[in-house]
Amino acid sequence: MQIAIAKEIELEERRVAVVPELVAKLVKQGLQVTVASGAGEGCYYSNQAYTEAGATISTDTIQMWQNADILLKVRPPQSSELQHLKPGSTVISFLDPLGKPQLIQELSQRRINGFSLEMMPRTSRAQSMDALSSQAAVAGYQAVLLAAAALPRFFPMLTTAAGTIKPAKVFVIGAGVAGLQAIATARRLGAIVEGFDIRPAVKEEVQSLGAKFIEVPLQEDTAGANGYAKEISRSAQELTQQVIGEHVKTADVVITTAQVPGKKAPLLVTEEMIAQMQPGSVIVDLAAEQGGNCAGTQAGRTVQVHGVTVLGVANLPSEVSVHASQMYSKNICTFLQYLLKDGQLNLDFTDDIISSTCVTTGGEIRNDRVKSALIPVNA
Ligand code: NAD
Repeated sequence: MQIAIAKEIELEERRVAVVPELVAKLVKQGLQVTVASGAGEGCYYSNQAYTEAGATISTDTIQMWQNADILLKVRPPQSSELQHLKPGSTVISFLDPLGKPQLIQELSQRRINGFSLEMMPRTSRAQSMDALSSQAAVAGYQAVLLAAAALPRFFPMLTTAAGTIKPAKVFVIGAGVAGLQAIATARRLGAIVEGFDIRPAVKEEVQSLGAKFIEVPLQEDTAGANGYAKEISRSAQELTQQVIGEHVKTADVVITTAQVPGKKAPLLVTEEMIAQMQPGSVIVDLAAEQGGNCAGTQAGRTVQVHGVTVLGVANLPSEVSVHASQMYSKNICTFLQYLLKDGQLNLDFTDDIISSTCVTTGGEIRNDRVKSALIPVNA
């Protein structure tokens, strides 16, 4: 079984799918591992480190893809890369199946088994393979550091001979994986933190991190499947916006992380709310790539809106490439072990982890949500 580890070719992508430490474990289990030359450069792992772990280094990318039985990657492969994979081979990666349905169609046309890590169920059994969550935690941490660097104020309270400095007020909207890590990080930096979410189930988690939970009593069920949220009604949205507005205007930093999987990000922070913030305040919009939770957000850019700095951040895990890669490696290698039996792929579709993550096999698209995403494309 030939396992190939790709070099990421997307601009600004510094992560690698498997770090040398985990390569050594795969090799120990009798798998042959080939790593594209320079794959670990963005996170400071040399070719030599991979060789010492027992991998072969390939300088011929096309040949490596052609020989691969299983290809491990971080970002969805591009068409120019996919064309080199042989029919019957397997790709395990983020595949963005709802955002890139054409890629999924191509995988199925090429009879490649596609496993999308985004589709991993959020269950305790699958927790160690949940790369979306591990990377969201990295993003939540990094969002706070970026906010602290952009804010022309201190985060902690300081008592100095030059006077007492009040701590910054941070408001985190959306207390899922990224939001909770943002709350924890802002607390560690000494800020006063408030957290809001439409799912009341997260109240205790927010409070246990030392933050205040902002409650809005909604008369509807907001919890969807697998620990994710459901989209809320228009009236519930209006109610939450009134409450959000009150807290945004007194915050020095707002970090937005609200999402409902497969939907455009809900617009929660309006331009009127921003206009009421103190000039110099900072908003970090983690949902920028899904359309943004905040008016004026531009994905991948920093803009000024009424004197407030709005960071439309993209791919923050790549900025913490060493630890993000270590965490991703652990997730993807645990998943790989899960798929293998006696060194061969063992696809038992009665298993919810395999059946949720496998988006293409034997020339078919398996996932109904992905099939629906393809309808407008094919039309
Ligand atoms: P998550 O599903 O764990 O958390 C999202 C939270 O938003 C949930 O707790 C949900 O209840 C809440 N929510 C949904 N609708 C809401 C509303 N109207 N008001 C308030 N809260 C609401 O997701 P996550 O893994 O924490 O990711 C959060 C966001 O960060 C996503 O948009 C994700 O794509 C993005 N993200 C960005 C980066 C980056 O580098 N920019 C990296 C990772 C994740």
